Amino acid sequence: MTDQLFLRDAYLREFTARVTGVRDGAVTLDRTAFYPTGGGQPHDTGRLGSARVIDVRKEGDEVWHVLDGAAPGAGDADGPAVDGDAALPTVGAELEGAVDWDRRHALMRTHTALHVLCGVIWNSYGVPVTGGNMEPLSARMDFEFDPMPEGFGAHVEELVNAELAADRPIEVSFLPRREAVLDRDLIRTKVSLVPEHVSEVRVVDIVGLDKQADGGTHVHSTAEVGRIRVVKTESKGKGNKRIRLAVEDK
Ligand SMILES: [Zn+2]
Repeated sequence: MTDQLFLRDAYLREFTARVTGVRDGAVTLDRTAFYPTGGGQPHDTGRLGSARVIDVRKEGDEVWHVLDGAAPGAGDADGPAVDGDAALPTVGAELEGAVDWDRRHALMRTHTALHVLCGVIWNSYGVPVTGGNMEPLSARMDFEFDPMPEGFGAHVEELVNAELAADRPIEVSFLPRREAVLDRDLIRTKVSLVPEHVSEVRVVDIVGLDKQADGGTHVHSTAEVGRIRVVKTESKGKGNKRIRLAVEDK
């Protein structure tokens, strides 16, 4: 089982960990600060020992770190010299890890911006989110509108930027599942979708605006996001309207 250090400290960039498993070009560790793809947030990249981390995936309780040059088929005869399987760390080895901070922090800003967007749209229109995806500093999110309100994009941009400027704190806590399912705000953001076997629910609370069961990494306050720009709004069919946004410096 990998202890996911980012759940309690999203700002941890460097750590030491022990290799607990090795397979085709990837290692799992006893602890990690690398975020694995999930919950709409893409994986981190960075460095583990002397290798580049190019992908991070969660399987069960293990976080697997895919290492560049150690993957099967990497480094063909014509390509540049790379370390092959021989460079793959062995079980028991202790490694230093370092997360690419520019990418991660951009994802934290983007993820928080999306939660602010959810809160704003719920408060203004009473409409739930149906899906979404993010890349560093750009994202899309779908809402259950039919039709899309007049002047929607510009209005939402204004409301979100006002909430970002309000510098709301973001608090992360852990609640027993039986308590979380009784919380009105968490019910609204579909805590019921958290799998039954999860006994402790991680809660991300943008204080006074939006509260969700969430495993992602977030900034400490909304001001740290900067501002957002609505790039595009589009209809993806009946009861499904998409908003695309960019996250920018203030
Ligand atoms: Zn989230």
